[in-house]
Amino acid sequence: MSEKIIDRRKVLLAAGLVAGGVLLDGGVAHGLARDSARRAGTPDEAWAKLREGNRRWAADASVHPHQDLARRAEVAQKQQPYAVVVSCIDSRVAPEIVFDLGVGDILTVRSAAQTIDPLVAGAIEYGPAELDTPLIVVLGHQRCGAVTAAADALKHGTKLPGHLQRIVDDLRPAYEQAHGDVDKMIRINTTNVVAELRSDKLLAPRIAARKLKVVGGYYSLDTGKVTRLA
Ligand SMILES: [Zn+2]
Repeated sequence: MSEKIIDRRKVLLAAGLVAGGVLLDGGVAHGLARDSARRAGTPDEAWAKLREGNRRWAADASVHPHQDLARRAEVAQKQQPYAVVVSCIDSRVAPEIVFDLGVGDILTVRSAAQTIDPLVAGAIEYGPAELDTPLIVVLGHQRCGAVTAAADALKHGTKLPGHLQRIVDDLRPAYEQAHGDVDKMIRINTTNVVAELRSDKLLAPRIAARKLKVVGGYYSLDTGKVTRLA
């Protein structure tokens, strides 16, 4: 967004003139409205947008799109997100930040080590089934604390308190496949979740009809880059 338009908005805000759709007459807002009038696009177009945003973030060149009053007004009545990002709860892996996006762009579903149970699966299915969202990204990440804790518990045969043991149980197959190597386990768990979603009863027909893709990614805490795993 140009300095000129930001300045214009500041002036309008100061004058109390920006309310509801008033700003939609502005050039940039008009462009955004046109953009959202299009459908959510193809799975590959959605993945390209996420990759572009992640490149900006990794290069310390984020533009923080869709985080202003005009965008809020634009999506207040209807949303058309183009991806579901399924990521860990980790405080360093916030999807809107690592893909440099704003409001109305993606649905985010987060659980420890992106583990899935029926409620989480329902949250993931919502986008494709109800909003025609064309892409699901399962995002594992470097030095995942949940995977590390689970590997530790499985290695020493200890039980974690409360509901934490459920996470450990869910990660056991990845632990066994990775022979205890934590980084391998993170990657294997991510591709296991991708496989689980690809065979999901509600999602599989959409994938077969090429309306939906499920991809897996690995986020590096060190570089900020997402690399594709599946
Ligand atoms: Zn994690």
